[in-house]
Amino acid sequence: MDLMEYQAKELFAKHDVPVTLGRVVETPEDAKAAAEEFGGQVVVKAQVKTGGRGKAGGVKLAANPDEAAARASDILGMDIKGHIVHRVLVAPAAEIVEEYYFSFLVDRANRSYLAIASVEGGVEIEEVAHTNPEAVAKVAIDPVAGVDEAKAREIVEAAKFPAEIADDTVAAIIRLWQAFVAEDATLVEVNPLVKRPDGHVEALDGKVTLDDNAAFRHPEHAAFEDKATTDPLEQRAKEKHLNYVKLQGQVGIIGNGAGLVMSTLDVVAYAGEAFDGVKPANFLDIGGGASAEVMANGLEIVLSDTDVSSVFVNVFGGITACDAVANGIVAAFKLLEERGEAVTKPLVVRLDGNNAELGRRILSDAKLPGVEQVDTMDGAARRAAELAAAR
Ligand code: GDP
Ligand code: MN
Repeated sequence: MDLMEYQAKELFAKHDVPVTLGRVVETPEDAKAAAEEFGGQVVVKAQVKTGGRGKAGGVKLAANPDEAAARASDILGMDIKGHIVHRVLVAPAAEIVEEYYFSFLVDRANRSYLAIASVEGGVEIEEVAHTNPEAVAKVAIDPVAGVDEAKAREIVEAAKFPAEIADDTVAAIIRLWQAFVAEDATLVEVNPLVKRPDGHVEALDGKVTLDDNAAFRHPEHAAFEDKATTDPLEQRAKEKHLNYVKLQGQVGIIGNGAGLVMSTLDVVAYAGEAFDGVKPANFLDIGGGASAEVMANGLEIVLSDTDVSSVFVNVFGGITACDAVANGIVAAFKLLEERGEAVTKPLVVRLDGNNAELGRRILSDAKLPGVEQVDTMDGAARRAAELAAAR
């Protein structure tokens, strides 16, 4: 999960990384009230999960409360790279002497962690890496040893941060590492890290990605979830513990195993080219040991997507054999009927693998309305695309 700037800064503050928190508001009136409370110059910042807000006009200084209201009114509703601004952060404006760049991230290629630091902050680091690569220091972090004072100092020296902020930056880097580890983050980025006139450094912007696989260790992170911008279907799927991603097409997809579902998306998109360009409507992996209930929940989510015109259930029997899956589909139809959500859209089912014959027989004997079986993945994808285009 990616955090918004104000959430990232809340995490930083929890780990004593120097930040100015400010207040998040949704209206110009509240922006004005916040500016009145802080007094003096404030900064009004769009809260969206994308970078380059400054460049897009989503970060503005305001000299007084009326200006804060005006800037908030400009920024609220803005579209920044496809993200609509629903909230702005109002904070006392920082005086900036210099801007630096700092981040910790997972270095997948080296199965390790990496610190990236640069005195060329405030601009996109990819750009600096391109135009002035020597200004970007990359320091490998041993995952077991982590970041102690010596390591932090090595980073500060590698990046050639000015001597007068070295101690302060070392302290900030150690705390950022503590935040990175304690919160199970895969990215912590501060751009810019600024030097203030008093000589201290402060994180003026924050980007944090939390590792969803560690979510069970952090019930408190659930509060960061942005229910307003999460797709409602994805939200419901999450509550049912389904591995679901909403896409833009018309053919609902249910499969077992992430790899199979991924290739199903490709096959359906390809088949759809011949049928008005219909596309897969979602990714849904019901996993290896799919019970009837999981199948019913999956079907319910996919069928409640108003974009969906047909559904392709693509199952390769493995540990859970096809007969179990077929029984699951039959039971799911009953369950849905009981819930008052009887299936009205056509379903194409392809069963292959362990006990495929038996599974196919169970399904055909059940004579479920609107259910067709096709034995091959390509053929089934074609039929599902054809049915979607016909509706
Ligand atoms: P981004 O464009 O999405 O990365 O948003 P940032 O939070 O990094 O802000 C962009 C730029 O706006 C920063 O690099 C600063 O130059 C400037 N900026 C942001 N906050 C302040 C502030 O409090 N005071 C001043 N003077 N400039 C700021
Ligand atoms: Mn930034």
